[in-house]
Amino acid sequence: MYVPKRVLFEEKALSYELGAELYKSFKEKGVVTHILKGNRVSGIPGDSPQSLYSEGKSTLVVRVRKKGEFQTCKPSAHYQLPLVSGCAGKCEYCYLNTRFGNKPYITVYANIDEILEETKKYIEERKPQVTIFEGAATSDPIPLEEYTGMLAKTIEFIGKEEYAKFRFVTKFDTIDSLLGLNHNGKTTIRFSINTERVIKTYEHGTVDLYKRIEASKKIISNGYNLGFIIGPVILYEGWKKEYLFMLHELRKILKGYESEKIHFEVISHRFTTAAKNKIIEIFPKTTLPMVEEERKFKYGQFGYGKYLYKQEELNEMKEFFQNNISSLFPSSEVDYII
Ligand code: SF4
Repeated sequence: MYVPKRVLFEEKALSYELGAELYKSFKEKGVVTHILKGNRVSGIPGDSPQSLYSEGKSTLVVRVRKKGEFQTCKPSAHYQLPLVSGCAGKCEYCYLNTRFGNKPYITVYANIDEILEETKKYIEERKPQVTIFEGAATSDPIPLEEYTGMLAKTIEFIGKEEYAKFRFVTKFDTIDSLLGLNHNGKTTIRFSINTERVIKTYEHGTVDLYKRIEASKKIISNGYNLGFIIGPVILYEGWKKEYLFMLHELRKILKGYESEKIHFEVISHRFTTAAKNKIIEIFPKTTLPMVEEERKFKYGQFGYGKYLYKQEELNEMKEFFQNNISSLFPSSEVDYII
């Protein structure tokens, strides 16, 4: 369970039910709480990249989301649903490392009802087309759920909407509060999984593979749509054996659900120069494979590029996952392997 060291409140957040509840419950738990003067987040200590990172991750900020457009979220969804930003996990390769500055604190919004009212407007504008909302574009929302109940509220809200769908992804297992909700088959919950070696070495602060799979079983048995993101796939020595073992374990634990249409997305490891520099700053001893000469460079949209595995390795990886997923989960759908 994620327990922040300190919780900072924007003053306005306290006038919302959720903000006031969070303030009361963290105070009762003895967690340091502080009411911010104005908008600026202050009071996070640290004197090195590592301590700033760690103190940032231990800080929760409760704010009010200002009215404003939702960000688009192509190609997997239409819009990001702003519930939480930041994450309690400390994965070395995380895409958020270059997004949230030196102190990557976690933000939750107290005005959930207003956010859902905005959501409704987007649905109305696009109907009769279905609008898909992504709840984990800049976060892993699960560790905060037991405090806020925001996902549960959103799932039930979307469940009543004919022209909307909701999806999010997690590396955590505290999903019991989502069981038994009226989701109406409109929400897809995806679990990000990897080999035990990758999880233990790089995905600090998350839960192990078996806990994620057990949680996914509860999700599918509760009628939700289920998906897995396998990634980042790291092609270390013996990768095939360990990824195959992971897929077999998945199949073993999900026995009885083979005929369900489980979705798979597979993403190979990649990095940018900015990400590499940031990772080395926070995790100076990282063993993530980030040798540019061993990769192929792919130009990106905004002048920066990514280092991907070489084409031959990617082809081998694609074939491996395509064949093994289809043979172990014949009713599944592989959305993409990149
Ligand atoms: Fe980043 Fe996901 Fe790890 Fe959180 S769980 S640190 S969002 S990769």
